[in-house]
Amino acid sequence: MTYHIKRPNYMCKKCAVIYIPFNKDIACPNCGNQADTEEHFDFIIDIANSMKAHKIRYGSFMPPAFFCDGSLAANIQSSCLKIFDKFEAAKPKDEKGWLSKAVVEKIEFSEEYKYLIKHITDIIFSIYGLYKKQNKFAPSKLKRWLSEELKKLLPYLP
Ligand SMILES: [Zn+2]
Repeated sequence: MTYHIKRPNYMCKKCAVIYIPFNKDIACPNCGNQADTEEHFDFIIDIANSMKAHKIRYGSFMPPAFFCDGSLAANIQSSCLKIFDKFEAAKPKDEKGWLSKAVVEKIEFSEEYKYLIKHITDIIFSIYGLYKKQNKFAPSKLKRWLSEELKKLLPYLP
């Protein structure tokens, strides 16, 4: 099962750009206005959970097929899945340097979305912090074994 993050875009009350106020310290990346909502505070955890679920089910963070609904949250999720798969393949020495370069090189920003570069880098770094703390989101042996066993059962389920 793919794990899709569905969230309405948050729009800055002052300058009307969209972004993800993923904790209380995140101000608008365009004008610095403070956000007035807490509904995105679990965004980082949501992305981490999707990465873990996909890793167990598919062996990679990005599933073989992934539908992106066009919202900012789904776009960022899909970029994170891609970037962390490439990150693990690249095994860079300077991990944070590689990640911040990846945001610029692997995501296309049209002129009106350039303000998101630093914002998405902050999101990627927050996920990276969790990733380092939580054993690279690698499934435990028990979870891997269970998922293999469940796959064998799938054809027999009603
Ligand atoms: Zn703003």
